[in-house]
Amino acid sequence: MSIKNNRLTTAEYQENFADIHPPFETSDAALTEANRCLFCYDPPCMKSCPTSINVPKFIKQIATENLKGSAHTIFASNIMGAGCSKVCPVEKLCEGACVYNMMHEEPINIARLQRYSTEKAMANKWQLFDRKPSKGKKVAIVGAGPAGLSCAHTLSREGIDVTIYEKEAKGGGLMTYGIAAYKVTPEFCEDEVNYITSIGGIEIKYNQEFGKDVTLEYLQQNYDAVYMAFGVGLARQLDIPGEHLEGVEDAIKFIYELRDNDYSKIAVGDKVAVIGMGMTAIDAATQAKRLGASDVTLVYRRTQAEMPCTQKELDIAKLDGCKITWLASPKEIIGNNGKVSQLVCDVMKLGEPDASGRRSPIVSGETFTIDVDMVIKAAGQMPFQSLVNANNIENNNGKIAVSGKSATKLAKVFAGGDCVNGGKEVVDAVQAGKDGAAAILKTIVSPDYIIESELKPTFNN
Ligand code: SF4
Repeated sequence: MSIKNNRLTTAEYQENFADIHPPFETSDAALTEANRCLFCYDPPCMKSCPTSINVPKFIKQIATENLKGSAHTIFASNIMGAGCSKVCPVEKLCEGACVYNMMHEEPINIARLQRYSTEKAMANKWQLFDRKPSKGKKVAIVGAGPAGLSCAHTLSREGIDVTIYEKEAKGGGLMTYGIAAYKVTPEFCEDEVNYITSIGGIEIKYNQEFGKDVTLEYLQQNYDAVYMAFGVGLARQLDIPGEHLEGVEDAIKFIYELRDNDYSKIAVGDKVAVIGMGMTAIDAATQAKRLGASDVTLVYRRTQAEMPCTQKELDIAKLDGCKITWLASPKEIIGNNGKVSQLVCDVMKLGEPDASGRRSPIVSGETFTIDVDMVIKAAGQMPFQSLVNANNIENNNGKIAVSGKSATKLAKVFAGGDCVNGGKEVVDAVQAGKDGAAAILKTIVSPDYIIESELKPTFNN
């Protein structure tokens, strides 16, 4: 057993990391699917979308071959509608709410239709929004992830100049650095950031780390408002013996490296244990398998009924050949010559529900041991508490405290996305960015400022 890179051929890497959700092969296939939609009154699919995309409207526009119109409908509500069509857990959002489920038929493939429309818009560089005349105001945003980009685009449309300070060398945040490569490629993420900023009035300053290269004080002095959207990022520690051994890795770091390098350069163990059962755990496990690990086991302290990932994510892991060990909690990592060699787990049983409403795991007294050479920790992420404390921002265990949807206690400083909610879906961050922009406009332009919810197209259909 050993951890090493370059386990597969170039062709195998390409096959393993190919797009997991292929698009419609023909326009006819998209039209056929669009015409299945019942165009419901009071549509449940729209209500279950955190950004309230008017789903029947954009599907009707596809059905009538008005692709520009459909892309406009999507982007007016969610400027990251293309990326969200690839990464949203639609089975628990729009597609899960589609009325076809009640008829025990396949729901409308909303994500695929959304992808069909938005990718056409990006490929053709359709500019679907005009900026309103300048309001002579400028806003600084910390973080070029989904919340920051969504806030920036909304402000730019309203005539505000925006500068985003991003600590990485690329924009996109979690989308670019934190999601499995077979869901969204790095090239797509770059295209999406360029498409969003192509409206104008948005400058992204890369390699600018908040608190180090740029301070809150500087931003407050030089901009009319500041929106903080720096996400979460620190992996939760297991706090068990052996965590320091060579071969123990954070899932966030593992996925980040994978997104930022050639697949052949990423070292992976032969026998890998992944701790956790959220989307990050699934992404780490499936990618470890796709990098050539022969044996990958997901270890989760509760049962399938309490798992945070969706059934679809679980199915992907199983199809990739990952094993699942339920009711097991890591107790100790054993090493040999400083390297991981075994993982000892407590066998758990379920007790009373905890604060999350899920039955809490309790140690049963039994243990078991599995041979591994790599342990990937994916037991959740923690907020950047030291960053928040250093800037005297009121917080709740490191998550920025806000009143309303995005106002902090500091004058003209707003916040949203994962740094406020602790880590939700990309689509939630996009909505947070819109909410932040609305609050900023009310503060720096007029308390009565309203962003039109139904933006008029700036093109002829
Ligand atoms: Fe169409 Fe389903 Fe939405 Fe009804 S619920 S509008 S059928 S996608």
